[in-house]
Amino acid sequence: MEKERLKEYAKQIKIDIIGVASIDRFNGISAQNHPGSIFPEAKSIIVIGKRITRGSLRGIEEGTQFGLYNMYGYHWLNNRILALATFKMCEFLEDHGYEAVPIPGISSEIQTMGIPVKKGAPAPNVMVDIQDSAIRAGLGEIGYCGIFLTENFGPRQRFQLIITDSEIEPDPIKKENVCDLCMECAKICPLAAISHKKKTIHICGKKMTIADVDYDKCAICRNGVSKDMYYENAKPDRIAALCSRTCLAHLEEKKRIKNLFNKNFRKRKAWKIDKSGEVIR
Ligand code: SF4
Ligand code: SF4
Repeated sequence: MEKERLKEYAKQIKIDIIGVASIDRFNGISAQNHPGSIFPEAKSIIVIGKRITRGSLRGIEEGTQFGLYNMYGYHWLNNRILALATFKMCEFLEDHGYEAVPIPGISSEIQTMGIPVKKGAPAPNVMVDIQDSAIRAGLGEIGYCGIFLTENFGPRQRFQLIITDSEIEPDPIKKENVCDLCMECAKICPLAAISHKKKTIHICGKKMTIADVDYDKCAICRNGVSKDMYYENAKPDRIAALCSRTCLAHLEEKKRIKNLFNKNFRKRKAWKIDKSGEVIR
């Protein structure tokens, strides 16, 4: 499959973000999270994404409407809007004779169940890490706060992926980082969940500086966090949380992302709730 044809189709069906990783970019990943465990003939992994519209975050930013984000920015976006796009991409590939396995944006922390059915095979269910795959497909990075950032939307997107036996030219790994280590996410967190101590990680040659995040604190945070939609014990969804919204405001203000608006995202001082549920004034 020629990458240009694939990307042209992605544009037609309004996919905002698309990147391709060759299967060899997953060398070293455990069998429990490896795309090749699901489809051993896999040659390419296509990661697609849809933006979370900025307006879907507005009610949470103002502290007056939390449900709309959960629908348009989380559940419906992932399970309906993006899932439909993933399915259409699979149909497109299969119409051209290539098998295409759709993978939703489910946490890779989901526990295994049952037993391996073949010698050397991992136990079901193998789940591929979406953020990790998006880095390998050249789409961006994990920012200091632990949330995925892209050059277009900062923290505002969701991803799904497709494993295929089509050999597609991989996209280059992003060299530039979006995160400028401003530390605003760490400074604003009312639960002090983001450490100020930096650590460096490398994924597929991509170097990133990230913090240790205390996800137990994030799980009880009342500043825009949602439980993982599939697995209660997985890391919570933090894209609409205070740390992530502050990151978005910063990246827009510094023009470090491309999807900019006529007016700033943050229009007044952000509200904050402490761990006991009191508003911090
Ligand atoms: S707020 Fe600053 S340090 Fe934190 S992730 Fe965003 S850009 Fe990086
Ligand atoms: S989710 Fe809440 S507790 Fe966790 S880093 Fe963000 S603001 Fe802090």
